Amino acid sequence: MSSTHRPYRCRLCGAASYQRLLHRGPDGAMGYSGTYRCSGCAIDFADPIEWRDAPAEPEPGLTALSH
Ligand SMILES: [Zn+2]
Repeated sequence: MSSTHRPYRCRLCGAASYQRLLHRGPDGAMGYSGTYRCSGCAIDFADPIEWRDAPAEPEPGLTALSH
């Protein structure tokens, strides 16, 4: 199993950058909405780690625990 560092890129399209999304608040002021958008495939995400790595998903092989 390799432990080399992962490249900081989109896991889907390989783009190396993303942008923070802006939104307009109730008072009309622009601010960061707390979400990001990939500059390559335009997916939205809230966490750059999620952009780089696949979101945590249940293992397909796992079945119900016997308990
Ligand atoms: Zn992308």
